[in-house]
Amino acid sequence: MTAFMLVSGSVAAEEMAEPTVPSRLAPSFIEFFDTLALTADFGPFNRRPAWVRKWNGPVTVTLSGSAEKLRGEIERLTRRVSVWTGLPFSVASPGARPIADGRNTIDVRLIPQTDANNTFASGDIVCQAETHGMGGALHTGYIVVSERYVDCLTHEFMHVLGFDSHWRPTGPTNIRSVLALRGTEMRTSDFSNWDILAIRLLYNQRIHAGMPRGRSLVIANEVIRRGPQRAELPPADRGRQTDW
Ligand SMILES: [Zn+2]
Repeated sequence: MTAFMLVSGSVAAEEMAEPTVPSRLAPSFIEFFDTLALTADFGPFNRRPAWVRKWNGPVTVTLSGSAEKLRGEIERLTRRVSVWTGLPFSVASPGARPIADGRNTIDVRLIPQTDANNTFASGDIVCQAETHGMGGALHTGYIVVSERYVDCLTHEFMHVLGFDSHWRPTGPTNIRSVLALRGTEMRTSDFSNWDILAIRLLYNQRIHAGMPRGRSLVIANEVIRRGPQRAELPPADRGRQTDW
């Protein structure tokens, strides 16, 4: 309970400021946000409705088996995500009793590569994330990371925050993301500033779980046009960005 209050306290100040982007970049950013959060993609997600999916309450991350090895990294990840979402994300202590109904939990599993080959039955898939919810409100998430690809963690974590799709731009773009496909120039190992802004936007209090795509985009446009900028985007005319 103490931890919850501490997190809430530190988050409050951050939450006052809403992300904005320079107006020249606003259409690109909205397209990016729309693609990742609100548009169908290939795979198991493409039968989902075009509405907002997000967590509503404190979220506990549980580490199954050897995922305990990733504890330090995942604790750092949850601290950052708590700030961006305004929700307390925390990692359950080792040996903590399982949460009774499994609600508001994200389970992380780390599996050996040989098991990954069997689990995914495809050489192309090395990690996986899955969420379940009701009316857009997420209540359970699963992340499976194979040992040879622990760099998947940020990618899969962004999926479980409610970004089901991938960033696969068809034309030239400066937008980089952990949700670009592995091996492409646009893929980053850590969250890009575009990713951070997208997370902040999805978790803006005016955008609700289950809100239809059209209404969400209207609000998204309003939100990014005002308020001080939290994760600075470089000016559009500075050319290619290579650092994020
Ligand atoms: Zn993915």
